[in-house]
Parts: sequence; structure tokens; C-alpha cells
Amino acid sequence: MSKPSVVIVGGGITALAAAFELSGGAAGPSEDSPRIEIIEAAATFGGPLQTTTFGDRLMDVGPDGFLVTRPEVVQLAKDLGLESELIPIAASGASILLKGKLHDLPTGLMLGVPTDRKQVDEMSGLSKKARKAAKKDWRSPRRLRVGDDISIGSILANKLGDELAYQLIEPMIGGIQAGRINELSAKSLFPALYNAARQGGSLMKNLASAMPEQRSNAPAFMSLRQGVGSLPHVLESILRERKVILRTNTPVTRIRAVAAGAYEWEVDTESTTTSANAVIMATPAGVTGSLTAMIDEALSKLQTVRTAATAMITFEFASASLQLPQHGTGVLVPLRTEWTGRGSLLTTAITFLDRKWTNLQRPESTVLRIHVGRSDDQRYAKYSDDELSDRILKELAYILGEAPTPLRTIVSRWTAGLPQYAVGHERLVSEARAVSEPLNLFLAGNSYDGVGIPASINSGRLTARQVLRAIS
Ligand SMILES: Cc1cc2nc3c(=O)[nH]c(=O)nc-3n(C[C@H](O)[C@H](O)[C@H](O)COP(=O)(O)OP(=O)(O)OC[C@H]3O[C@@H](n4cnc5c(N)ncnc54)[C@H](O)[C@@H]3O)c2cc1C
Repeated sequence: MSKPSVVIVGGGITALAAAFELSGGAAGPSEDSPRIEIIEAAATFGGPLQTTTFGDRLMDVGPDGFLVTRPEVVQLAKDLGLESELIPIAASGASILLKGKLHDLPTGLMLGVPTDRKQVDEMSGLSKKARKAAKKDWRSPRRLRVGDDISIGSILANKLGDELAYQLIEPMIGGIQAGRINELSAKSLFPALYNAARQGGSLMKNLASAMPEQRSNAPAFMSLRQGVGSLPHVLESILRERKVILRTNTPVTRIRAVAAGAYEWEVDTESTTTSANAVIMATPAGVTGSLTAMIDEALSKLQTVRTAATAMITFEFASASLQLPQHGTGVLVPLRTEWTGRGSLLTTAITFLDRKWTNLQRPESTVLRIHVGRSDDQRYAKYSDDELSDRILKELAYILGEAPTPLRTIVSRWTAGLPQYAVGHERLVSEARAVSEPLNLFLAGNSYDGVGIPASINSGRLTARQVLRAIS
């Protein structure tokens, strides 16, 4: 009897992790392992996980690290024999640009949200009104009706006031998601905040009691010595050894249910058709929604999950020519921050890359990464790479006080961007899965179960286990 066949559409980290698990995980393939085929539209696997050379540095042009308060990346690194490649983050803390000056962010915030009114009291750059709002939440908190889901912005603005919500907290949460807190789902993206608001009473006190205990020396983030991009690279070569069929430059054009016979699905590209007992859709929700729209309305609705395109401009500067804040891994910039130029700043954050990662440190030069682009701010997209670099150098001069001529520059644009989990996201996803899973059609990836590398790996591996149960 021929082996069952599984097709994975999309070849990002979710798909690679799913194929690794389907082909036996750490133990490797067995007689029962299915035939596995990954079909990826782009020229390479791994989506934004890409490493390149930047002078004498190996530099990630996409994600540069991952959270290790979740176990998934470390576990996968162990399974791949990459444990000795893991490097901990080398610095902590950050500054924020308020009223034209840099101010240290207090420690003990949860995703940017204060968990003690003292943090607000002691921080410079905030108004008396903001301090009063924090005091009110601490002493006589506002009531807030929280239904089945609510935006992160509604919770924060109602409980802590506009200044803390939009000036202090949005730069962190909105920055990670490249979105606006007024649109993002608290239930899906920040369950601790959602639960704290539902509990009633002081938001900050509720969050403080939900704070995970920080093991004193344990780093919260890690990276890989050869770059985060080495993760898909190593996975790809292991999957090749395991005889997984790996196809790039091949967009999937159609998914068809088969009425009768040994297989449930046929997956079409421009020139091929692959039969499958199960299909894992590891593409962005918008793509998945359009490829499966004819199957059911609930799947078609996945097309409503928008993505936010972003770009990152990385500069190498001579160390001697740059004055950075003494501490921290970077600077956050609130949206619509005015400056000496026209309009507001494009910059949403600056990362001091070589403060974070020791493998990037050189005595003679420093690497800085500037982030631009949000769901509702695509102004950067009209600039060419050279124009964008020029504009960002002027913004850097305003934010840091100076910006010397860079020794090297690289601009990376992420048009597929980050999925935006709008209010009601969880329901949208569970309705789509209720239709697809009984048909052996599975939805995996960062459009559904959390944004970020750990959540994507988890989604890929869990979905693979579900598939193995379904086809056994
Ligand atoms: C700029 C940027 C910085 C980030 N920084 C971090 C970070 O520091 N830490 C962190 O943990 N996370 C970070 N993330 C998030 C993290 O990278 C993602 O959550 C994760 O990579 C998503 O993986 P995925 O496989 O689910 O999706 P993707 O990587 O998007 O994979 C989906 C794949 O589907 C393919 N595809 C699309 N259409 C078709 C089609 N018709 N047929 C076949 N294939 C198709 C695409 O080409 C793509 O390769 C960042 C993301 C971006 C964009």
C-alpha cells in the first residue's frame, strides 16, 4: 500500500517545523512516516528568517531573536543539534522618545504596561495627568465592561488614560505587531491584559499578580550564533535528508476536494497537481482564505485578516562617531511624534543590534536598526531605498542628537508583513477550523495561533501531530 500523502502549502518556519514533526521529529522518520511535500511561492524557505553578510558580520535581515520564556525555539534547536549555537541577549532595558527627549523605560513593565504606579511616578517625560491616571487605577479604578473580546487600546485608554495608552504603551505593543492598539484583539494577543481587565479592579495590580516569576539570571530572548536565518537553513537540509519533497518558486494556485478515491485533496500549481490525504495551509490567512474560499464562507472570511508591511534600515557606523544612551537595547518612538522636519517621524523604533547580540560586537563599529511602517502608516513605501536611508539618517540625527555618515546600509522591506489580529480574531479562526479540520485541511502559522517564531513553531509541530492522528 502506498504511503499517505501530506502537502504543506507555504514554506515559512511553520511549514518547516510541521514537516520536521511529520517526518518523525527528533527521532527521525519511521516506516509509518507519510510522503511530505512542501510547496513555497518564494525562492527560499523560512519567510522573513534570513541571514546575510553585512561587512564582516553575519546579520539577520528579518527577525534577530526570539522569546525564550516560551520553550519552542530552544526545544527545536535541541532537536536539530543547534543547542550550542544559542546565544542569550546581552542587554536589557530601553528608552522612549517623549517631548523631544529620551527617557529610560522603567523595569517591571508587562509588554510595556506598568504593573505598579511607582513605575509611572518615577518615570521622567510623563505629565501630571498621566501620573494621576495611574494613581486612579491603583486607588479607585474605573469600571470597564469587557465582552467576548475587546481591543487592547480600549482597555488601556479606559483604565489608564490616553497618555499612558498611546504615548507610553502603544510604542511597545504596536511596534511588535506593526499595528494599532485600538484595533488589536486583547484576547488573542495579550490574554493577561484581557483577563486583568475582566477581573475588574486595578488593571496594574491584576497584571502584577499575573506576572510570571522572572528567574533572576535567565535571559528572556535568545538568538543563534549563525543568525536566526540558520534555523530554516538547517531544517531544510535535514528535511532533504529525510526525502521530504521541497519546492520553491512555485505558488499554489488551487486546492480542490476530490469527490471519491484514495485521496481527499488535489493541490495545483501552474504546472503540477499533487494528491494528498491531508493539506496543511501554512500561508498567510489572506492567501489561505482566497485558495479555500469556494469550500466554505468561514474559510473565505480568512481573507479579512489584514497584514501590515514594514521595513527595516540597518546602518553600520564608526563607534567613535556615535553617542547612544548609556543603557538599553534601543529606543521606542510613539506614533505621530513631531520633529524638526515636515510631518511626523517615520521611525517607530531603533534597535542597538550589537548591544543585544555579542556575535555582532566589534570595537570599531556599531550596528543600528531603524524600524518603519505600521498597519496605518505606509508613508515609507513611497521612498526608494536611498531616499529612505537619507530620510532616516535625518530622523536619527533628531532622535539621538547626531547621525554620522554610515559605513554601510541595508534596507529590508517586508511586504507580506505581520498579520493583524483584529477584535474577534479567535472566533474567526475557530469557525474556519471547525469547517476545515473534519475535511483534513489544517490551518497553521502566525495568522492563527500567535505572531512570532516560538508561536509559529508550536503551531507547525502541533498541527503535524493532529495530521498524523487524522491520517493514521
Ligand atoms: C520584519 C519582521 C521582523 C520580525 N521579527 C521577529 C522577531 O524578532 N522575533 C520573532 O519571534 N518573530 C519576529 N517576526 C515574526 C516571525 O518572523 C513570524 O511570526 C514567523 O516567521 C511566521 O512564520 P510562518 O511560517 O507562519 O509565516 P511566513 O514566514 O509568512 O510563511 C508563509 C509562506 O507562505 C508563502 N506563500 C504565500 N503564498 C503562497 C502560495 N500561493 N503558494 C505557496 N506559498 C505561498 C510565503 O512566500 C511564505 O514563505 C518578525 C516578522 C517580520 C516580518
